[in-house]
Amino acid sequence: MLIDTYGRPVTNLRVSLTPRCNLRCIYCHAEGESSPRKELPTDQLVEILRVAKRLEIRKVKFTGGEPLLRPDVCDIIAAVPEGLESSMTTNGTLLADIAADLKAAGLSRVNISLDSLDRERYRRITGRDRLDEVLAGVEASLDAGLTPVKLNMVLLQGMNEDEVDQFLEYIRRKKGLMLQLIELMEFNDCSLHGDIGRIEERLAQHADQVITRRMHHRKKYCMDGAEVEVVRPLHNTEFCAYCNRLRVTSDGKLKPCLLRSDNLVDIRNKSGAELEALFAEAVQKRVPYFQ
Ligand code: SAM
Repeated sequence: MLIDTYGRPVTNLRVSLTPRCNLRCIYCHAEGESSPRKELPTDQLVEILRVAKRLEIRKVKFTGGEPLLRPDVCDIIAAVPEGLESSMTTNGTLLADIAADLKAAGLSRVNISLDSLDRERYRRITGRDRLDEVLAGVEASLDAGLTPVKLNMVLLQGMNEDEVDQFLEYIRRKKGLMLQLIELMEFNDCSLHGDIGRIEERLAQHADQVITRRMHHRKKYCMDGAEVEVVRPLHNTEFCAYCNRLRVTSDGKLKPCLLRSDNLVDIRNKSGAELEALFAEAVQKRVPYFQ
């Protein structure tokens, strides 16, 4: 198993399949990629997944850009070695037509980014008028059994802070849905950082049960048939202390931390023992960002 110098096991891999996206979210961190070059070919991704499994990585999450823009996305998922659980975070705009194929290829579940249930707000946040397609994607994912379907809602001051109750109503209406409330990480100084602490206090007051997850020690609040996970990465030493994640950028670099770009390890065109050694090197470069 891969363990870093802080004693943190690395069991999760977050793989960006492409830097391309069909939305223009005003706050997007683009998975910490600044100027990515060409995306990795299918066979290289397959080799990375094979080596990850050998190194006892247990879960892989596909991301982007928008991962569903890759025409070979189902081939990539089908190539995930047995025993390695795969999931995806997607903006959902293209999901309706492909959800069943993703499930058939072996994907276990999806996170769907959805910051507003209001059409005009959604358009303002993402730059595109595509809310209906995303909602159709949510339905299709539930029908396909890509569950639990987690809705990723980034809390944005003055834009969607007042919508948490509507989201709770929405997830209660549909079995298999849950909400993931995410603190905004401000990269572009866009002054949209909302008060997630205040909302979390309210959730805590109404919760029947609070579960602390192993990943990042995130808290999950369960209340009246709704489950809400709160993701608070900023200035959170506990989040970093329980981070078990390594990233692969769309152009083939291992990235030990979302918030740093000075410690990347190039794995383009690498395979076998050489690739395993580069994984070990990247893991040794992991340092908790907030300590
Ligand atoms: N296009 C895919 C999607 O929408 O899920 C995958 C890439 S997107 C960068 C992955 C997740 O990161 C989304 O849920 C998005 O809301 C979240 N995200 C992007 N920028 C963020 C930021 N500045 N702070 C917090 N979360 C962010």
